[in-house]
Amino acid sequence: MTDVEIIQMMREHFEGLFPKVCPKCGRRFATLREYILDTQRIGTTISYDAEMGDWETTQPMGAVAHANCPCGTTMALTTDGMPLSKIHLVLKWVKEETERRGLSSEELIGYVRDEVRKRVLIDPV
Ligand SMILES: [Zn+2]
Repeated sequence: MTDVEIIQMMREHFEGLFPKVCPKCGRRFATLREYILDTQRIGTTISYDAEMGDWETTQPMGAVAHANCPCGTTMALTTDGMPLSKIHLVLKWVKEETERRGLSSEELIGYVRDEVRKRVLIDPV
Protein backbone atom coordinates (compact mmCIF):
# COMPACT_ATOMS: atom_id res chain seq x y z
CA MET A 1 0.00 0.00 0.00
CA THR A 2 1.20 3.51 -0.79
CA ASP A 3 0.59 6.60 1.33
CA VAL A 4 -1.93 7.82 -1.23
CA GLU A 5 -3.89 4.55 -1.09
CA ILE A 6 -4.00 4.56 2.71
CA ILE A 7 -5.02 8.24 2.82
CA GLN A 8 -7.75 7.62 0.24
CA MET A 9 -9.05 4.57 2.13
CA MET A 10 -9.25 6.50 5.40
CA ARG A 11 -10.86 9.46 3.68
CA GLU A 12 -13.57 7.24 2.19
CA HIS A 13 -14.25 5.65 5.56
CA PHE A 14 -14.51 8.98 7.38
CA GLU A 15 -16.64 10.56 4.65
CA GLY A 16 -19.01 7.64 5.06
CA LEU A 17 -19.64 8.66 8.69
CA PHE A 18 -21.52 11.80 7.62
CA PRO A 19 -23.92 13.46 8.17
CA LYS A 20 -23.13 13.63 11.86
CA VAL A 21 -24.96 15.53 14.60
CA CYS A 22 -23.51 17.01 17.78
CA PRO A 23 -25.23 15.20 20.66
CA LYS A 24 -25.31 18.37 22.77
CA CYS A 25 -26.30 21.33 20.56
CA GLY A 26 -27.77 19.39 17.64
CA ARG A 27 -25.54 21.07 15.07
CA ARG A 28 -25.49 19.01 11.91
CA PHE A 29 -22.30 18.43 9.96
CA ALA A 30 -23.36 17.37 6.48
CA THR A 31 -19.95 16.33 5.25
CA LEU A 32 -16.45 15.56 6.48
CA ARG A 33 -15.38 18.87 4.90
CA GLU A 34 -17.93 20.83 6.94
CA TYR A 35 -16.83 19.00 10.07
CA ILE A 36 -13.14 19.77 9.44
CA LEU A 37 -13.95 23.44 8.82
CA ASP A 38 -16.29 23.93 11.77
CA THR A 39 -14.72 21.85 14.54
CA GLN A 40 -11.45 22.31 16.30
CA ARG A 41 -9.24 19.28 16.27
CA ILE A 42 -7.91 18.25 19.64
CA GLY A 43 -5.33 15.74 20.75
CA THR A 44 -3.56 13.14 18.70
CA THR A 45 -5.14 10.23 16.91
CA ILE A 46 -4.46 6.97 18.65
CA SER A 47 -4.69 3.54 17.05
CA TYR A 48 -5.10 1.27 20.04
CA ASP A 49 -4.19 -1.80 17.99
CA ALA A 50 -0.95 -0.21 16.77
CA GLU A 51 -0.12 0.94 20.30
CA MET A 52 -0.55 -2.63 21.48
CA GLY A 53 1.48 -4.00 18.56
CA ASP A 54 -1.57 -6.12 17.75
CA TRP A 55 -1.05 -6.00 13.98
CA GLU A 56 -3.27 -8.91 13.01
CA THR A 57 -6.03 -8.48 15.52
CA THR A 58 -9.34 -10.18 14.82
CA GLN A 59 -11.11 -7.89 17.30
CA PRO A 60 -9.80 -4.43 16.53
CA MET A 61 -10.08 -1.75 19.17
CA GLY A 62 -9.76 0.75 16.36
CA ALA A 63 -8.56 4.32 16.25
CA VAL A 64 -10.21 7.52 17.37
CA ALA A 65 -9.75 11.18 16.41
CA HIS A 66 -11.31 13.88 18.59
CA ALA A 67 -12.50 17.37 17.71
CA ASN A 68 -14.56 20.02 19.49
CA CYS A 69 -17.90 21.25 18.19
CA PRO A 70 -18.25 25.07 18.35
CA CYS A 71 -20.47 24.49 21.42
CA GLY A 72 -17.47 22.90 23.18
CA THR A 73 -18.63 19.30 23.05
CA THR A 74 -15.96 16.78 22.11
CA MET A 75 -16.91 14.61 19.18
CA ALA A 76 -15.07 11.55 17.89
CA LEU A 77 -14.50 9.94 14.54
CA THR A 78 -13.56 6.29 14.80
CA THR A 79 -12.58 3.41 12.57
CA ASP A 80 -15.51 1.35 13.89
CA GLY A 81 -17.29 -0.34 11.03
CA MET A 82 -14.27 -0.57 8.76
CA PRO A 83 -14.00 -4.08 7.31
CA LEU A 84 -11.37 -6.22 9.04
CA SER A 85 -9.56 -6.78 5.73
CA LYS A 86 -9.02 -3.03 5.38
CA ILE A 87 -8.00 -2.62 9.01
CA HIS A 88 -5.36 -5.32 8.47
CA LEU A 89 -4.03 -3.52 5.39
CA VAL A 90 -3.76 -0.27 7.34
CA LEU A 91 -2.11 -1.93 10.35
CA LYS A 92 0.37 -3.71 8.11
CA TRP A 93 1.23 -0.41 6.46
CA VAL A 94 1.60 1.30 9.86
CA LYS A 95 3.89 -1.48 11.12
CA GLU A 96 6.12 -1.39 8.03
CA GLU A 97 6.26 2.37 7.66
CA THR A 98 6.87 3.17 11.33
CA GLU A 99 9.85 0.80 11.17
CA ARG A 100 11.10 2.15 7.86
CA ARG A 101 10.67 5.84 8.72
CA GLY A 102 11.59 5.61 12.40
CA LEU A 103 8.29 7.19 13.47
CA SER A 104 5.92 6.23 16.25
CA SER A 105 2.51 4.95 15.17
CA GLU A 106 1.05 8.10 16.70
CA GLU A 107 3.25 10.28 14.48
CA LEU A 108 2.49 8.27 11.36
CA ILE A 109 -1.25 8.26 12.00
CA GLY A 110 -1.09 11.99 12.72
CA TYR A 111 0.46 12.42 9.29
CA VAL A 112 -2.40 10.43 7.70
CA ARG A 113 -4.95 12.57 9.56
CA ASP A 114 -3.24 15.77 8.35
CA GLU A 115 -3.19 14.51 4.77
CA VAL A 116 -6.86 13.50 4.83
CA ARG A 117 -7.81 16.95 6.17
CA LYS A 118 -5.66 18.68 3.57
CA ARG A 119 -7.11 16.70 0.67
CA VAL A 120 -10.71 17.11 1.80
CA LEU A 121 -10.24 20.88 1.95
CA ILE A 122 -8.39 21.17 -1.36
CA ASP A 123 -10.47 18.70 -3.30
CA PRO A 124 -13.99 18.27 -1.94
CA VAL A 125 -16.10 15.54 -3.49
ZN1 LIG B 1 -22.32 21.07 19.58
